[in-house]
Amino acid sequence: MCPYCSGVCTRFGKSVTKNQRYRCKKCRRTHSFSYSYSACNAGIGEAVMSHVKEGCGIRSIARLLKISATTVLKRIVTISKTITKPVIAMGKDYELDEMCTHVKKKTNLRWIVYAIRKDNKEVVDFAVGCRTNNTLKLVTDTLILSKARKIYTDKLKQYATLLPSENHCTKQYGTNCIERKNLSLRTHLKRLGRRTICFSRSMGLLRACLAIYFWG
Ligand SMILES: [Zn+2]
Repeated sequence: MCPYCSGVCTRFGKSVTKNQRYRCKKCRRTHSFSYSYSACNAGIGEAVMSHVKEGCGIRSIARLLKISATTVLKRIVTISKTITKPVIAMGKDYELDEMCTHVKKKTNLRWIVYAIRKDNKEVVDFAVGCRTNNTLKLVTDTLILSKARKIYTDKLKQYATLLPSENHCTKQYGTNCIERKNLSLRTHLKRLGRRTICFSRSMGLLRACLAIYFWG
């Protein structure tokens, strides 16, 4: 069976490493059941995804799966592109918070802003960027568009200017769920750990890893 179009395949010689190759009669693409470089084998994408969710770093995934670190980076980016944001329900309560991390070097501070639904603790949207109103606005605008009933945040001053006062709430213990989620994130993703030398080297990869962790 062809892995691309499920057509019928016939034998098509052997590869340099003496593995039997097959060619599809329909789409004319060739494949093999075992490759000498394990990144080409089936199921490696799912393995990369589960390792990212379990908090492995890039090089530890490369060592565990016996593939190169560059391949791991490329796979993470391609997998994250296939992940779509969940559909947001209208008129719900949300908790919104920001957490600080480093990107590229320890002096480059960046924010991860994200919102969770209060009833089922599902992450509805997130943004990564400089510690400015623009980054906060990416998430607050989504919540306003989804006609949020109440948005719970901490007492950061910028939220008062970005959120309508009738929906905004800063009461004590209002952000308990998301504060706990921050701790889980820091435990589950190695790149977010405090007081370690692990941190993201690029914003794109941080975004990709978070998308896989939240929605993958
Ligand atoms: Zn085919």
